[in-house]
Amino acid sequence: YAAKRAGTGVHVHVPDPLSGTGDRLRTMEELRTAIEGDELVIHLQPQVSFADGTTVGAEALVRWQHPTRGLLAPAAFLPAAEQAGLLRPLTDQVLRLALAATARWWPEHAVPVSVNLSAANVTDLDLPATVTAALARHGLPAGALTLELVEDTLMADPDRGRVVLSELRTLGVRTSIDDYGTGYSSLAYLRHLPADELKLDRSLTSDVADDPRAAAIVEHTVALAHALGLRLVAEGVEDERTADVLRALRCDIAQGYGIARPMPVPDFLTWLAARRASRAARAHV
Ligand code: C2E
Ligand code: MG
Ligand code: MG
Ligand code: MG
Repeated sequence: YAAKRAGTGVHVHVPDPLSGTGDRLRTMEELRTAIEGDELVIHLQPQVSFADGTTVGAEALVRWQHPTRGLLAPAAFLPAAEQAGLLRPLTDQVLRLALAATARWWPEHAVPVSVNLSAANVTDLDLPATVTAALARHGLPAGALTLELVEDTLMADPDRGRVVLSELRTLGVRTSIDDYGTGYSSLAYLRHLPADELKLDRSLTSDVADDPRAAAIVEHTVALAHALGLRLVAEGVEDERTADVLRALRCDIAQGYGIARPMPVPDFLTWLAARRASRAARAHV
């Protein structure tokens, strides 16, 4: 997992939680406690429309507020969570946190939240029922939620994954293919995937301004996505120059440090209001 992340160019300093059996067991025990307690938090990163700059989504990214080690990035504990079989309870908790946060802004800003799924979730036939219950508990419509998954998570049981995704879409939940363009992305396979959105990986988007080959790949992926009725999100948009090229290449939605870094829930609520106010002010001049 860490290796895969390194390969996608997402640089996070990762202390290795798996070194030594004793350490590993302690991390797993701590993780169990963290998930059951209140040590997991989410940060939210805005997604904005390339066409008019409006906020069209927010991705929930898990963090572990560790009692002694500080705020940990997902790369520092997701591998251990997976090994310990804790990814389902982890996702349940992130889903709760994400929907609780969304319920706070939804009446004023109808901005859906995106939650990342793991392989354990994608093949969980109970997931649609879990999601329905979570939405109902927070008084939110299915349109308030997008679920992201990377292609690899479907490999273990593609048929079952498709059933789960189809059910979610029937409910009205959006589905999104994350980190597209990494791993063994197969074009043919997109044909049978019940998805609404494609997220182009940062490894492709970050080079478009300087590398014509990266730009060509993005251009053709956008055309393919649109032909298949998918909207395209560009990940890792770090600067204006890159954003301009991605806009010209007809990407629909931008996400990245250049728009905003992932931030705690209260900060996101402030960001959302400020962004709308400044856009409204500009519209009047
Ligand atoms: P992801 O879903 O592809 O999320 C995007 C990652 O890129 C996030 O890292 C985000 O902080 C980072 N990022 C966003 N914009 C930029 C940018 O402009 N430049 C750079 N260099 N990085 C950017 P993060 O939060 O460390 O998450 C890493 C991965 O961990 C996620 O990748 C996702 O695969 C996984 N993850 C995060 N939260 C969850 C969760 O709740 N459940 C599961 N199963 N996986 C999660
Ligand atoms: Mg994601
Ligand atoms: Mg991604
Ligand atoms: Mg990525």
